[in-house]
Amino acid sequence: MNIRDLESLCESAASFFARGLAFGSTGNLSVRDENEVWITPTGASLRNLTPDRLACIDMQGIPHNHNQASKEYPFHLAAYRSAGGRATALVHLHATYSVALSCLADLDPEHPVPVITPYYLMRVAPLAVIPYFRPGSTELAAAVGEAARDHDCMLLRNHGLICLGRNMEEAVDRTDELEETAKLCFLLHGRETRALTQEEQDDIIRVFFTKSQS
Ligand code: ZN
Repeated sequence: MNIRDLESLCESAASFFARGLAFGSTGNLSVRDENEVWITPTGASLRNLTPDRLACIDMQGIPHNHNQASKEYPFHLAAYRSAGGRATALVHLHATYSVALSCLADLDPEHPVPVITPYYLMRVAPLAVIPYFRPGSTELAAAVGEAARDHDCMLLRNHGLICLGRNMEEAVDRTDELEETAKLCFLLHGRETRALTQEEQDDIIRVFFTKSQS
């Protein structure tokens, strides 16, 4: 694994903490290189991690160094297995607005968020909604793995968000866009809202897609 990729992971983690998207010891990030996954350690704040504190495991979950991986590592591995070359980085946060969205009783799993900006369409949509499963469980890992076949962004019911990327920068971009979109949904709640029309969405898709090229 390139040391620069590990430094980038630590810098992204610190940025999430500094911007209030991660707090306490919540959230975990990882990067993958072939059969090796480097992931934030269990019970650690994202505030000031360094590469020497990251845990290294293989795709079977076997430890490759002495640092203990985040308890949520099973869904990192499941996502990487399903997404293949589409993902070499994963961000998982309990960011406030995304968690709030994930707790709404009337959330539509097919259309959890209206397409209110072109950026949501370019960086996040389609957003998968994963039913609630206990954190760290094999059931959660299986559901995330299933969704990762054709989704880069997921909302975990009553829990948080997952964003995949071809590199950490892309996973961070998607995370920021998802959290800001969730925030907009609450700001606009109760107001008559104009979503992009189908024609406007088709235009964005025609000009900018695929999303992976944006
Ligand atoms: Zn979590």
